[in-house]
Amino acid sequence: MSRTHRIAAVPGDGIGIEVIEAGLEVLDALAAAEPDLAFEVERFPWGSDYYLEHGVMMPDDGFARLRAFDAILFGSAGDPRVPDHLTLWGLRLAICQGMDQYANVRPTRLLPGIEGPLKGVTAAELDWVIVRENSEGEYAGAGGRVHQGFDHEVGLDVSIMTRKGVERIIRFAFELARSRPRKKLTVVTKSNAQRHAMVMWDEIAAMVQADYPDIETDKMLVDAMTTRMVLKPASLDVIVATNLHADILSDLAAALSGSLGIAPTGNLNPERDFPSMFEPIHGSAFDIMGKGIANPIGTFWSTAMLLDHLGEEAAAGRLMNAIEVVTGRGEVLTADLGGSATTAEVTEAVCAALAGSNV
Ligand code: ATP
Repeated sequence: MSRTHRIAAVPGDGIGIEVIEAGLEVLDALAAAEPDLAFEVERFPWGSDYYLEHGVMMPDDGFARLRAFDAILFGSAGDPRVPDHLTLWGLRLAICQGMDQYANVRPTRLLPGIEGPLKGVTAAELDWVIVRENSEGEYAGAGGRVHQGFDHEVGLDVSIMTRKGVERIIRFAFELARSRPRKKLTVVTKSNAQRHAMVMWDEIAAMVQADYPDIETDKMLVDAMTTRMVLKPASLDVIVATNLHADILSDLAAALSGSLGIAPTGNLNPERDFPSMFEPIHGSAFDIMGKGIANPIGTFWSTAMLLDHLGEEAAAGRLMNAIEVVTGRGEVLTADLGGSATTAEVTEAVCAALAGSNV
């Protein structure tokens, strides 16, 4: 039976535009290889250029238009000409929060042929999924500024954690841990210094843990977690952390897996009331924009997560396999991975691997 999925592509800014085009080529290659599989893709040219022209990152009806899709493939939002908080809140966070994509899932592993910066660490020893709370906490957007410009100016960012918000992300992480072979979960906290919401976070984690006796669970302070990721990577499996903590830890994780350019993420609305959104972890990287050298693998891996979410596990597996064939061969890699290939060459190699030939 034929399956058609409706995908909204929001390339955004900087290299987001280049890597999303590459991701859409890979979707075409997947569809070409499987006659029953089709994608209806619509591109939305929203982002900083749109902002400079219209004063908003996306049009008023943008949200309603995206809602009609099965999933969203997102590039990046960020431009030196526009303040970062405007680009972030005007597009990416507007979508994530508006669509209640509360579970941000960030897999990290050493792909074949890629050597991370940790000496002697093998692929079997670095295989994590970071689950980031994506709807509240430090990025809830609560706060304000008064008396701007005076020396008695006050700026306030209030972290908001709700019992419902914490419980649903912790439960999501336990379920994910249960689906993986090692069945381990590390709960990241900072309840020694932050004595209200983080203590509630710990209490809720302990309460939910009682429902998952089969999962080996431990708790780490976020500062100690950074050293554990570097010194004892094999001791970790699934990691759950607040919005801010996981934001930072996942950039570290991406670097430890070889490059920010390969790391993927999914912003999930697990209840499927809204489409989920998939994107590479990296940002706009204006230093390499327009040069055609951005690594598209983070977008390809994100596309595999998108396929998995849409129930296309076999296609997701084929795409991951094609990525791993290309990295494993080590001949067609971008500069961030020590090679000299262009975005187009890596894309071509992955499409060729999907088609079963050798480029
Ligand atoms: P933003 O402010 O949008 O997060 P940024 O430029 O501050 O963007 P990133 O885009 O996350 O931060 O990237 C940091 C650096 O990592 C870039 O300057 C770039 O050199 C490198 N980098 C990021 N993504 C890639 C990629 N896909 N391919 C190659 N290099 C990359």
